[in-house]
Amino acid sequence: MRRVTIFGATGSIGENTVDLIARRPEAYEVVALTGGRNVARLARQAMALRARLAVTCHPECHADLREALAGTGIETAAGPDALIEAADRPADWVMSGIVGAAGLAPGFRALRHGSTLALANKESLVTAGPLLMAEARAHGATILPVDSEHSAVFQGLVGEDIAAVERIVITASGGAFRDWPLERLADATLAEASTHPNWAMGQRITIDSASMFNKSLELIETREFFGVEPSRIEVVIHPESLVHALVGFRDGALMAHLGPPDMRHAIGYALNWPERADLPVARLDLAAIGQLNFHAPDPRRYPALALARQVMETRGLAGAAFNAAKECALDAFIAGRIGFTDMARVVEAALDSLAGDPGLGIPAENLDTVFAMDHLARVRAGEAVRALTART
Ligand code: NAD
Ligand code: MG
Repeated sequence: MRRVTIFGATGSIGENTVDLIARRPEAYEVVALTGGRNVARLARQAMALRARLAVTCHPECHADLREALAGTGIETAAGPDALIEAADRPADWVMSGIVGAAGLAPGFRALRHGSTLALANKESLVTAGPLLMAEARAHGATILPVDSEHSAVFQGLVGEDIAAVERIVITASGGAFRDWPLERLADATLAEASTHPNWAMGQRITIDSASMFNKSLELIETREFFGVEPSRIEVVIHPESLVHALVGFRDGALMAHLGPPDMRHAIGYALNWPERADLPVARLDLAAIGQLNFHAPDPRRYPALALARQVMETRGLAGAAFNAAKECALDAFIAGRIGFTDMARVVEAALDSLAGDPGLGIPAENLDTVFAMDHLARVRAGEAVRALTART
């Protein structure tokens, strides 16, 4: 029996993970599931998978969770400390499926126990890549990428020498507004930004796909996970979202990974690694698909990409600052305080204001340094939001 824990079980990644685990109940022992305010869903999942522990990150939701699981024998807990305690319970395989910087601490802690960490939470690598990779090495833990692009690259590298890699190309759908006239972007609404042409995902990553902040995070994630120079990492728009990534080798070969836009492939690959197992994903009918399209991203439409290049240049704590400023800008957009195109302005202003701070390019010593930069960047981004709202 494989012991598994799922952080962010109630989210989009979490539900896909639960789906795969539930198909083979005899193979897994579920140590812990965590979620947020959706305690009814969390309780349902915990009962279906016979989990030992269910944790909500919100203390004020604990009573509801306890009530929903009364008489089942499933333990309950709440709050950020309870997430760390859940990470301390021995598990062989841990899904890091929380959204945002909040996913860093529990995943990081799980590495201490030598678990295999299936990493959907890209923010962990963006904010603390070198620390996370070093922690895994120190404890003999394994990190497996679950972002579809990074899983695709990982699969393309099996049996290959990373020194022979000339380039890595990650694809982007272009998001909700890829065909909109540029001048309309400023007026894009929350509802319009919250739809994705190909993937069904959580709201935050869906909006980040429209602004290309998601791909910006993924550029940094690629750099941190695979250790390749930023100049070797490319982004190409591929509207069909069927080619997830390509790996180019020194002999000119370009290996592509194709599959339907279904996260159960990348999650299932990480769950069964190093083996492959049957997965309930559709098989592509290439003749029916007919054609695949690619084009270069327009820097005016997607200013987030240039910001990510700048962050990769600075390194150190710049990733933590970038992510935190982005989260703050996204919160402000969701709250209706700023417009869609203001998000990149806010992030740029926060990074500019931190550029004078000598700490930005310094490698993070520990997670506390990362959290301190995260906090500072949110303050600066908050100031930028206020400056923008004062003007309008
Ligand atoms: P989601 O919003 O659907 O779910 C997020 C989960 O995290 C929920 O269980 C929620 O309760 C929990 N959560 C939210 N805030 C929390 C906090 N402060 N503390 C503890 N738990 C908290 O998000 P998602 O789309 O499943 O994305 C999860 C992660 O996976 C993100 O990092 C995202 O970038 C990455 N990812 C998602 C997809 C996808 O298809 N959804 C694809 C690739 C990568
Ligand atoms: Mg992705």
